[in-house]
Amino acid sequence: MTWSIRRVSERPPSSLSPMRFAPLVERVAGKGVGTWVTHTQARLLIESGVDVILLTVGNPDQKPAATMIDTTVAALRAGRTLHAPTIGYPKLRAAIASRSERRSGRACAAENVAVVPGAQGGLFSALSCIAGAGDEVIVPEPIYATYEGVVGATGTTMVTVPLDPARGFPPDLAALEAAITPRTRVIWINTPHNPTGAVFTAAEMEAIAALCRAHDLWLLSDEVYEDLAFARPHVGAWSLPDMAERTAVVSSLSKAHAVPAYRLGWVIGPPDLIRHISNLLLSVTYGGPAFLQDGALAALSGDLPEVAALHEDYRRRAVLMCRLLAEALHCRVVPPEGGMFIMLDIRPSGLSADAFAHGLLDSERVAVLPCDGFGASAEGYLRISLGAPDDRIREAGERIVRYAQRLAQRPL
Ligand code: PMP
Repeated sequence: MTWSIRRVSERPPSSLSPMRFAPLVERVAGKGVGTWVTHTQARLLIESGVDVILLTVGNPDQKPAATMIDTTVAALRAGRTLHAPTIGYPKLRAAIASRSERRSGRACAAENVAVVPGAQGGLFSALSCIAGAGDEVIVPEPIYATYEGVVGATGTTMVTVPLDPARGFPPDLAALEAAITPRTRVIWINTPHNPTGAVFTAAEMEAIAALCRAHDLWLLSDEVYEDLAFARPHVGAWSLPDMAERTAVVSSLSKAHAVPAYRLGWVIGPPDLIRHISNLLLSVTYGGPAFLQDGALAALSGDLPEVAALHEDYRRRAVLMCRLLAEALHCRVVPPEGGMFIMLDIRPSGLSADAFAHGLLDSERVAVLPCDGFGASAEGYLRISLGAPDDRIREAGERIVRYAQRLAQRPL
């Protein structure tokens, strides 16, 4: 028998025979993808031993509640490593439903809940099931940087409505209404808002709901920072009257429970939507890990003191950082009403957000995120995470002020 052998190294270089990819790959590679460049550079510096204060992404520095971790570990040891139901165990779905009912005052049952891989997976699953090619999705802007990719993946068209920085980025209801066309299917909001820190008021939420009812739209509400509202209580979309059949609320354990790597979130919505999400996830994840769901059940069955403590940490750090940054020349700090971030308007410095962030990383070893990838209204702003211990926050604030002073003294 003769063998025809061709070694792998003899394959033609891929540049000579490029394979084609689906149009989707372009749609998920929007501007948002570039947002994380400073973060990646800072991580590389840290890995090479440089002491960088990393305030780029929303990674909480607090320890997760012991009860959640202990339950997760015990579940792993007990062999809870087999396939789990596609949208979560009935017990966990019921616990998430009664938590939502407690908070919103509106009926919520297990059939209203899908357990999904993080809020990110929830946003992707929910939007994929409520809108598609040819549909328009209205999103107040700045937008969280991953939204663009989600919209791209679904083939929908994003219509952005700017939030006004001068007024603290509240939703502009007249502009939202003016953006509605016969093709609009969804209004997608985020409260507390990333990156601006705005917490929408009850009146704003009710007005947005009224728009959805009047124009027969879905309300997709990203409430991943629901436990981190400082200026006023968080008003969740599930609490809004006559909205249950057109509302999808997305949240997760990531932020307030300090476990972003659990990838455990949920969608709350009408049972039909939950069934569609179940079908979608069957072809994507085939269900989430049972041991993480056990940990989540321990976390979500009651109100953990660790969550209240974490809320207090972020409120206190926001006050501290705002006080420090008030001294930064040619910068304007936007005090957040909630969430894990502070926006700093550095346009008066004459630098782009990118140049400012790179200079700050180079000379002061503080990594923050340029906001340009969050939309046109956020251009020239930096987003500063509060996910570091107070002494590091203080140190970072002082270094940012020092850098801003140096910039202000440079010859133009
Ligand atoms: N929405 C917003 C506004 C976020 O800030 C984040 C995380 N940074 C997510 C969704 C995704 O959260 P998760 O980790 O639960 O996927």
